[in-house]
Amino acid sequence: RKLGVALVGLGGYSKWQLAPALLDTKYCYLAGIVTGTPSKGKEWMRTYNIPKENVYNYDNFDEIAKNSAIDIVYVVLPNSMHADFSIRAAKAGKHVICEKPMAVSVAECDAIINACNKAGVKLSVGYRMQSDPYTNEVKRLVKEKPFGTVQYVSSDAGYYSGGNPNQWRLNKKLSGGGALVNMGVYAIQSNIYGTGTNPISVSAQEFSTRPEYFKDTDETITAQMQFPNGAVGNLFTSHNANANRLFVSFKSGWVELNPCHSYGPLAGRTSEGRGISFPHRSQQLIQMDDFAKHILTGSTNFAPGEMGKRDMIIVEAIYKSIKEGGKTIPLNLGNMGIVS
Ligand code: NAD
Repeated sequence: RKLGVALVGLGGYSKWQLAPALLDTKYCYLAGIVTGTPSKGKEWMRTYNIPKENVYNYDNFDEIAKNSAIDIVYVVLPNSMHADFSIRAAKAGKHVICEKPMAVSVAECDAIINACNKAGVKLSVGYRMQSDPYTNEVKRLVKEKPFGTVQYVSSDAGYYSGGNPNQWRLNKKLSGGGALVNMGVYAIQSNIYGTGTNPISVSAQEFSTRPEYFKDTDETITAQMQFPNGAVGNLFTSHNANANRLFVSFKSGWVELNPCHSYGPLAGRTSEGRGISFPHRSQQLIQMDDFAKHILTGSTNFAPGEMGKRDMIIVEAIYKSIKEGGKTIPLNLGNMGIVS
């Protein structure tokens, strides 16, 4: 049987990416919704043929425990609400997908992981890139070393935000941070899969050029990381500049993805002049099917909770470095969150 997914929060990402992908997934489907807006609920019931008994609001959400049609709760709310709803979903006995960033602090990530362990449910972070074939081609080159070992990795993730200055992403209470937590997690992730290891230290700098727009959250951050084999990593993230690239330099070659973390189609090439190209498929479709397969068959969880927590440890270290004038912050992550 296909697993039933309930989306919590019917904003842009649920509407334009997750729900359409769930029409084509093989191992799960859109069974329910959780929304604070009754009119949206009605529209979604019609569009996706969702029965009334599978529609919840934020207050009666916990009753989902009694609903056997829902196997997975997918939390797609502003970042500061991820922990609350992921923990409530676990307590209701449902498997959890929590959107990125996993939460707004390491302590919250721990609370989500503990709640899922206690309830005996599976947990995954909405890191669609971990299921993406381009990302996995980079991982293969890093692992199989046709160009030797990685010496340098650089990743940029950002976009120009010029719209509504009152959006939740620019409100620290709701977002937990600015460009770093929103887009920077992609650059952290690609630095890690671009070397195959966790960084052992990080130092960072913050730039602010439009303080009148970015009143509450970070606009642009650069960071440098050191990796255990001596490789150096570079990260750029911004809400003030479009950036979407991964460059991995090996001893005798390189690979570049550009774009590297948008919804696709992505594009890549290597120093040999070889283009990297895969038939386009929805990343969200592959990601949700991968997680459903993990639940059904015990196959690999490509984005476990520990991965989201590890990235939040790095986020907190970057903010600490900035606060301390760019000081190098040591990290002791071991293999935390590395999935091979
Ligand atoms: P959005 O603003 O489009 O939607 C947010 C939803 O939350 C809306 O339905 C809104 O009604 C609801 N909501 C409930 N309480 C709210 C409050 N107090 N303030 C504002 N909205 C509230 O946002 P989105 O782009 O759908 O992002 C939702 C989550 O998904 C975020 O955590 C974001 O980081 C993540 N996301 C991930 C990806 C990805 O590629 N993995 C892409 C986009 C968004």
